[in-house]
Amino acid sequence: MESQPVRSQPRLDPYVDRYAARTAGMTASEIRALFAVASRPEVVSLAGGMPNISGLPLDVVAGAIGDLVTQHGATAMQYGSGQGVPELREQITEVMRLEGIEAHPDDVVVTVGSQQAVDLVTRVFCDPGDVVICEAPSYVGALGVFKAYQCDVVHAEMDADGLVPAALRQAIASVRASGRTIKFLYTIPNFHNPAGVTLSAERRAEILDICRAEDILILEDNPYGLLGFDREPLRALRADEAERVIYLGSFSKTFAPGFRVGWALAPHTVREKLVLAQESATLCPPQFSQMAISAYLAAHDWQGQIKQFREMYRERRDAMVDALADLMPAACRWNVPDGGFYVWLTLPPGVDAKAMLPRAVTARVAYVPGTAFFADGFGASSMRLSFCYPTPERIREGVRRLAGVVEAELEL
Ligand code: PMP
Repeated sequence: MESQPVRSQPRLDPYVDRYAARTAGMTASEIRALFAVASRPEVVSLAGGMPNISGLPLDVVAGAIGDLVTQHGATAMQYGSGQGVPELREQITEVMRLEGIEAHPDDVVVTVGSQQAVDLVTRVFCDPGDVVICEAPSYVGALGVFKAYQCDVVHAEMDADGLVPAALRQAIASVRASGRTIKFLYTIPNFHNPAGVTLSAERRAEILDICRAEDILILEDNPYGLLGFDREPLRALRADEAERVIYLGSFSKTFAPGFRVGWALAPHTVREKLVLAQESATLCPPQFSQMAISAYLAAHDWQGQIKQFREMYRERRDAMVDALADLMPAACRWNVPDGGFYVWLTLPPGVDAKAMLPRAVTARVAYVPGTAFFADGFGASSMRLSFCYPTPERIREGVRRLAGVVEAELEL
């Protein structure tokens, strides 16, 4: 008898009956599944949102870290405060002042990236079945947190000026009509991930008015706010409303994500709850990373560095939108972001971005299908393209490959 090739069976999980119900909402994000293929050198990855940290002054960072070890090693390598290093919290208030926020360092909680801040806020506010209103589309990492805490995500539409006030009103009304509780609005006002759009100044006032009238808290997630290409940072929502807004910031895009330092600025009583949640999650955020960032901010022209990042990302944005205009089939639509990392592209009717992805990878280009950014299966005809990491030449080559794949799809 001929021997059969051994086929690997999907492994059964012997623990399946023991997991908590909340693990049902914990699934690998579409982005994670993509990382393995997208990181192959022959693939142009327009998928991941990795900041391009090659522009950082590594000698300055090395000097700051070396001094930290030799001069303050005993503190830097010790446990620290659950709320974060006081000196860094003070510096964080200076960073936020660039967006009009006046805050006291006592109301800042340092977190392990702003990702952990999303987690802590959700842990503190949400019971299973509570509703979080999110833009459509929204940040995949936040949707993952909301799912893990068994929240229901209700999306509200955006347009070129960001979240549409009428859509927010409608979402609030329909959730309330269904008898469910809205815990907060999660919004990314600047250079949205994944949509690339920015909430206009007029809309900011309107969104705040709606949330005041409807008594809704706002979770303002703002990792990209200082990365605008053409203008000064817009005023944060938190700058005009201190009691209703929990503001999240991060050093991941303006310095480096490997330190894993972000923060939440919250009303005083909420801040106390966040610190308790932080202590139970990690005891304290990493002391070493916080002190390294604090030393970097103190010793270096960090605002000049952010300016350099902005120029680098602007050049890459230009490379992407120029290539799209030159090469993509006419029926595709996309926006031209004025900051951040992302372009949102919508394919011609009938073309499914998720179904097309394997063919794109074969053509050596990767993107994230739009469905990753919706809790409800929408977004099939769209995709997120990141311009932050590849060089301008690689971006153009990636778009050329993508255009070829879309054209082939249209001929099918
Ligand atoms: N929020 C948004 C909108 C993001 O795009 C990201 C990173 N991609 C995060 C939060 C998390 O960033 P970090 O944890 O590195 O601060």
